[in-house]
Amino acid sequence: MDRSSYCDLVKRVLANETLNIQECTRILSSPEIELLPLLDAAFEVRKTYTGKVVSIHILNNAQNGFCPEDCHYCAQAKTSQVDIDEYPLKSNQEILQEAKSAYERGAFRYCMVFAGRGPSGRRIEHLSRLIREIKSTYPIEVCVSAGIMDESATQQLKAAGLDRLNHNLNTSQRHYPEICTTHTFEDRLRTLQAARQAGLQICSGMIVGLGETIDDIIEVAYRLRQIQARSIPVNFLIPIGGNQLKVISELTPEFCLRVLCLFRFLNPDSELRVAAGREGHLRSMEVMSLYPANSLFLDGYLNVKGSHRARTLRMIKDAGFEINSEFSVDQILANEEVQGTIQDDRESFVMKDLADLRPHKDHPSGQGT
Ligand code: SF4
Repeated sequence: MDRSSYCDLVKRVLANETLNIQECTRILSSPEIELLPLLDAAFEVRKTYTGKVVSIHILNNAQNGFCPEDCHYCAQAKTSQVDIDEYPLKSNQEILQEAKSAYERGAFRYCMVFAGRGPSGRRIEHLSRLIREIKSTYPIEVCVSAGIMDESATQQLKAAGLDRLNHNLNTSQRHYPEICTTHTFEDRLRTLQAARQAGLQICSGMIVGLGETIDDIIEVAYRLRQIQARSIPVNFLIPIGGNQLKVISELTPEFCLRVLCLFRFLNPDSELRVAAGREGHLRSMEVMSLYPANSLFLDGYLNVKGSHRARTLRMIKDAGFEINSEFSVDQILANEEVQGTIQDDRESFVMKDLADLRPHKDHPSGQGT
């Protein structure tokens, strides 16, 4: 592909044209489409909507484990043998303290995640009270991930001030029965429709590496365009020994970057998040993900550590990006320096964290997101 073809691609995407399946397939797999000009084209699109700003998300796993579902990639699933630190719902005080800490670390949005098939009426009331308290105390957006919900539940959360509801599609409709048998792809779509009806922004994404085909990845990217997902986390499977998933895909840094470019072209103005697995799968090319993606998670994932936040913040700054926060990267790092939370990790985090993230091929599986 010559230079003018990449410019043409950018123009068509910015004109909101939908790329066809053949074009999407070529983006993911054709050696004729070289990675650097492709990333540059994705960056042109990203810059149009979000400049060089990176939105930081911090996850709070408000409750861990005890899930009756069998998502094969998830360490919290009833079928998982992973020895996780199961705990019931955290106290309000703890959740509020974590919201404060997320705000002080430059998070634009605070994401509360609750394991389970879906919340009861009582849980929805409890969540509504928590959301009201967080929103009235900190200038931070709030997102909740709590499983399958109907419209009455999503309306109550909207009335409490919730900004976004997360519910990932995870994989294509065709591939869904291979990764979960206790609920369906359609259940997930219905929850997203209920969120939209209630006026909530939709956050929904996928996990790449679950044994899906290229067509499955393209289908999810199209679906998210169709349902107008405003926020799209793209996770790269972190296999964890003891989970149920038996088929995992080999992912290369280049393929992961191509996937991010594809999601950017099909969802040009959405917040695209390079989510779980960025450290282990993108490796030395991790910083390149900031060209198609404009968001990331800081401080790790649900049951897996990420790299230390100081390293991630420095990566953002070194590449000339800035964060979507009233604090600058320097202010956050200086604050942590004062609190003494950086020094211990500064020398050892690279080896330690990458070792933790290394896939265990003999005992494959994944993460719950
Ligand atoms: S992904 Fe969510 S619903 Fe599925 S097993 Fe994990 S916690 Fe339960």
